[in-house]
Amino acid sequence: MVKDIVILGGGTAGFMMAISLRTRLPEMRVRLVRSPTIGIIGVGEGSTTDLPAFFHGYLGIPPDEFYREVKPSLKLGIKFIWGSGDAYHYGFSGALRQHIQETALPVGFLCDKTLSGADMSSALMEHGKVFLQHAEGRWPDVRHTVGYHIENAELVPWLEKHAARLGVEVIDGDLASVVRKGDSITSIHLADGHELAADFFVDASGFRSELLGKAMGVPFVSYADSLICDRAVVGGWVRTDEPILPYTTAETMDAGWAWQIEHPGRINRGYVYCSKFITDAAAEAEFRAKNPKVGPTRVVPFVPGRYAQQWVGNVYAVGNSSGFVEPLEATSLLVIAHECRFLCGALAESGGEVGPELRSSIDRTLGRLWDEIRDFLAVHYRFNRRLNTPFWKHCHKHVALHGAQRWVDFYGENGPTLVAETDLLAPVQSVFHLEGVWTHLVGMQVPHARAERATAAERAAWANHTASNLAQAKTHGLTVEETLAVLQDPRWTWTPGFYALRR
Ligand SMILES: Cc1cc2nc3c(=O)[nH]c(=O)nc-3n(C[C@H](O)[C@H](O)[C@H](O)COP(=O)(O)OP(=O)(O)OC[C@H]3O[C@@H](n4cnc5c(N)ncnc54)[C@H](O)[C@@H]3O)c2cc1C
Repeated sequence: MVKDIVILGGGTAGFMMAISLRTRLPEMRVRLVRSPTIGIIGVGEGSTTDLPAFFHGYLGIPPDEFYREVKPSLKLGIKFIWGSGDAYHYGFSGALRQHIQETALPVGFLCDKTLSGADMSSALMEHGKVFLQHAEGRWPDVRHTVGYHIENAELVPWLEKHAARLGVEVIDGDLASVVRKGDSITSIHLADGHELAADFFVDASGFRSELLGKAMGVPFVSYADSLICDRAVVGGWVRTDEPILPYTTAETMDAGWAWQIEHPGRINRGYVYCSKFITDAAAEAEFRAKNPKVGPTRVVPFVPGRYAQQWVGNVYAVGNSSGFVEPLEATSLLVIAHECRFLCGALAESGGEVGPELRSSIDRTLGRLWDEIRDFLAVHYRFNRRLNTPFWKHCHKHVALHGAQRWVDFYGENGPTLVAETDLLAPVQSVFHLEGVWTHLVGMQVPHARAERATAAERAAWANHTASNLAQAKTHGLTVEETLAVLQDPRWTWTPGFYALRR
């Protein structure tokens, strides 16, 4: 029976897991070891809507304290400077899932050329606003449609403080060796001579994957046939008069793409590229030419892929030690949250005695989650026609779609209909839903055989719908600055149950 857990690693993943275990299983002893010399990765700043739901719903972290101390910014989705036409907004609100009264046609058929104003989120993004003003006064009508932008370097110390409040024991030390018995670990030794024995070990050691990859020898499954980028040059600058945008920007670059992430006091940018097509120096030069305000930069190498298993015996990996995909859809924090939920759920529901069927079922589920994200990202690379550089020519021809091939074939024949969603997504996790895939194919203007389905009357109704959304967003929308001023104000109170509903 699991009663005593040691976590190796004190980055976002290690502390999110420690907090999850102590919150959901308070009887569990949780010790966390982190190296005083290795440090944390220090990047990883965009999220999906899952993160606020996880922090404030699943973990019960009060949003008021979090807004005041961690100072997240708000993100309605991603603006993609991508595809062959104008930039398009991919919001978290599921724009293509809605229906308008005037037609039974899925709305994806109506917004073939642009997603502008497709729903309120995309209209707000277009006007640089995040929420509508509340009907009763000048405060935000807060919705669940936002994720966070959070500086990794600010989040991790706050998570550590919260973990300490929950009774997590933090030990500074470097891993020296691991004692294995069969398919389990019995203890780990630290360089200072300490030995830590436990029932269960969580590997949160980042790219080093000390326990799962090295000690247990689980093989790594590369995603390099779909995701060819392997480095990022990162940098940023202190915000001056730039407005805080309510989205991440993903911009096509010569040999990859660049993000722009918005923090209240800072703008962070990073260029994700493939070292086979551009050198570090040339990538830095292209990045700097587009961002003249950028300060010092650093290069972060990475290897896309996941471990063949992420739960072996009494070892469970979380975060970068379990796998990694580049942040094109900002999915790492989402995966970490899933990893925490699955482990806590398995331990709680089995009374700490997890059997092999439950273990391998969770292991397979997490593997599919990683693969689904790879497939989703592959679609972005395969169909982005914005540039015709050697890198993009290679992507158009060679990016492997894997599970996304079915989605693309179906779309080519039928267009953005959601009628077959259950079949097309089963048995995957559907984090982005079929609607997410269709949004990108529509936004990138990928042709399909059913393009001319809408009548003139339906098109006119759609034009009214988008114009009305855009007008309302412009007149009644609040900026991120206006919204954060309210949410960080001690007089603001959250509606009871706002996040508990999302448990
Ligand atoms: C370029 C880039 C951009 C990214 N952008 C995003 C994004 O926008 N959104 C998103 O969700 N994610 C993003 N990520 C991913 C994100 O950074 C990570 O998922 C997240 O920070 C979790 O990291 P971690 O805790 O697994 O690893 P780390 O932060 O690397 O922590 C590892 C911990 O293990 C400890 N450790 C390692 N080895 C030892 C040892 N031998 N002994 C003792 N301790 C040890 C270290 O001291 C450290 O405490 C990005 C990643 C990269 C590379």
